[in-house]
Parts: sequence; C-alpha cells; structure tokens
Amino acid sequence: RESLSARLKTVKPSPTIAITRLAAELRRNGKNIVALSQGEPDFDTPDHIKAAAKNAIDNGETKYTDVDGTPALKRAIVDKFKNENELDYEVANISVGTGGKQVIFNAFSATLDQGDEVIIPAPYWVSYPDMVLLTGGVPVTVSCGEKSGFKLTAEVLEGAITPRTKWLVLNSPSNPTGAGYSAAELKAIAEVLLRHPRVLVMTDDMYEHIRYDGWEFHTIAAVEPRLRERVLTCNGVSKAYAMTGWRIGYAGGPVDLIRAMGTIQSQSTTNPSSVSQAAAVAALTGPLDFLAERNAVFQERRDLCLAAFNGIDGLSCKTPDGAFYLFPSCAGVIGKQVPNGKVLVTDVDFATYLLESVGVAVVPGSAFGLGPYFRISFATSTDRLRDACERIADACASLK
Ligand code: PLP
Repeated sequence: RESLSARLKTVKPSPTIAITRLAAELRRNGKNIVALSQGEPDFDTPDHIKAAAKNAIDNGETKYTDVDGTPALKRAIVDKFKNENELDYEVANISVGTGGKQVIFNAFSATLDQGDEVIIPAPYWVSYPDMVLLTGGVPVTVSCGEKSGFKLTAEVLEGAITPRTKWLVLNSPSNPTGAGYSAAELKAIAEVLLRHPRVLVMTDDMYEHIRYDGWEFHTIAAVEPRLRERVLTCNGVSKAYAMTGWRIGYAGGPVDLIRAMGTIQSQSTTNPSSVSQAAAVAALTGPLDFLAERNAVFQERRDLCLAAFNGIDGLSCKTPDGAFYLFPSCAGVIGKQVPNGKVLVTDVDFATYLLESVGVAVVPGSAFGLGPYFRISFATSTDRLRDACERIADACASLK
C-alpha cells in the first residue's frame, strides 16, 4: 500500500512466526503437523510466580508504574546481576520493558542515526537485523560458520568494524545455534573492542539459564570491566521461567543510555504490565531449583534429537551448549531429488519439503542468515520430538 512508510518496506515479518502460522493453517485443514518452529518452553510458569501475580491483582497493583520498571523489580534485577553475574549495577542502570524485544528495540531507537552500522554475527536471532532497519540503522551481518563453532572471532570482528560502527550484538547461548561463548572467547573479542572505544556492545543473555554439560555462562561486561560503560546487558524472564506471555525483559547499562531508553518507552508504551512486573520479582527472587530439573529434561530431548539427526544420511548437527535449539546442516541433502522429481536447491526447499511431505515444521537456516541449515526447537514433548525425528528420517530416506 502506498500509505505505508518507506522504512516499513525494508523489513519482513518474522519468518519463525510465518512458518508457525502456516503449520497452524495446515493443522486446521486436518493435517497432522508437528511444529518444531517456535522458541517457547512447553513448561508452565512456576506456581509461586503465578501466585505473586494473583496477589498483585488482589493488592491493587493494577495501575501505572514507573515507566521503566517498579523500584522492587529494579532492585531484584540489581541483585540478580550481582549474585549471578558479578555485575555491579545500581537501580539507575536498569531498564525494564515489555519483553526482551522491547528493551533491544528501545536501545537501537535511542542510539541509531541514519547510516549507523550494527555488527550482527550470523547466524543471528531473526529480529536483530529488522529492528536495526526499523530504527534507521544498517545491519552489517558477518558470517560465523560452523568452523568457528558459529561464533564471532576477534579477527572477523576487527575486519567488520568501520568508522560508522555503533553497536556489536552478541547472543550467548545463541538462538539459533545454542553456541555459547567461553570467558576466553569473550576476552579476545573485548581486546578488539578496547581498541575501538566508540563501539557499543549489546549482549543478549536471554538463554543464560538454559545450558548443558556443565557449560559455564559468562557475560562480556563481567569478563572485561573496562567495557562496562558501553555494554548493554540484556536479559529477561521469558525463556528460563517459561514466562513468554508475561512480556518482561530488562537490561543493565550506562545511565545515559538507560535514561534515553526510558524516554523512548515513555512516548510509546509506558510501563510494562504492573502484574507481570510483580510476577517477575517473584521469578528473580524465588527458588531456582526448577531450572535444573527443566534443564535435565531439555538435555535429554537435545540428546535424543542430536542422535537422530547425526544418524540421518545428509544431515549433521553440532552439540549446543545452551538454549533449546538445534541447528543441523542439511548440506548433504541439497542437490537431491524429492519423490515428485523436484530438486532441493536451498534450505527453504528442504524445510518446505519437510512440512509438505511429513508435516514437520522447521525454520530454514537462511532465515537466520546462514544456509544450508535448519533450526528446530526441542522445547516440546519428548514423544512429539521422537515422532518428528522419525518423520524427518523417513523424508530424507525418500530422497534420491
Ligand atoms: N533474544 C533472543 C535471542 C530470543 O530468542 C528472544 C525470543 O525469541 C528474545 C530475545 C525476545 O524475548 P522476549 O519474548 O522476552 O521479547
């Protein structure tokens, strides 16, 4: 439509949501579909968190709050950063928004001018490049292939920095690969950043708590305190606490940036839901034993799918350190023919073939900036995963 803005025309709707929608439509038409496309834990929000929300409603905590978070939630976040990450933030360093997504969007809105560049290691979470485009910046994606464990190296970073670089985005453990940065890897990246004092760093730690095999989480502002004044440490309750629908995300960062993000939020959405904020306080200050139990279940599912994929001719998959995704390569099926004679040329062809032939919804790797791969979420029941793996094996066995 002519009435839509030029800026809007540069972005595309989230491909993960598009695939999930298509799968839902096929299901409505009576097809038996297994959707492995959505990044959402199948677990329920823990009861003590729900109880805190119910109490908040009964206590009248149903009005506007401070724009970027209640004092109680900000204090809980300060304590979380201190206790879990060895980061010394004060309340003035904290911003709370409607999901991790809004916090990231606020940060880009508050800082990007036309032509400012944001370095985004690929494969990346689908929203980063489009958020940069929507806020007037230029996404600079740098390919980080399987050889470097899908991670950015100091050398690649150095080559990508220009006089227009405003931000580097890091995401560990990563959506879509599950790759996590070690302290030494972050230190090497930090060394480069110390030579480029203008570059800000956004670290998206959303999957911090979902990790396997004893892998240790580190975040860059703690690894290199000299970067502290230009790092925005983003996190949220959506994934670890199974609270995707409550919409609470937060960040710690330099006071001037945090204040600017609050200004943007004050003229767009105002405070995140008061009830959800009360629930988030309970999440951050309450018991965490459920995390280990859930991670054990996730790890079992991860291992089940890894074994299945690595046993399928044409697929191969690296073991993720965290999050709840697998990012298998489908290079070995590219060039093969499906039963109706069509040749698989890209990972989009392969994902479409899986959906149409055996009813399994996956997201093509190219949506995350790296093909030929595909992403599955293993945050779904073990029975469903087993069924999906069998179907994918059948689909691959039918290729010629
Ligand atoms: N960051 C990453 C890497 C994600 O995968 C997601 C959700 O998919 C988010 C941020 C956004 O989280 P929220 O639901 O809190 O907005």
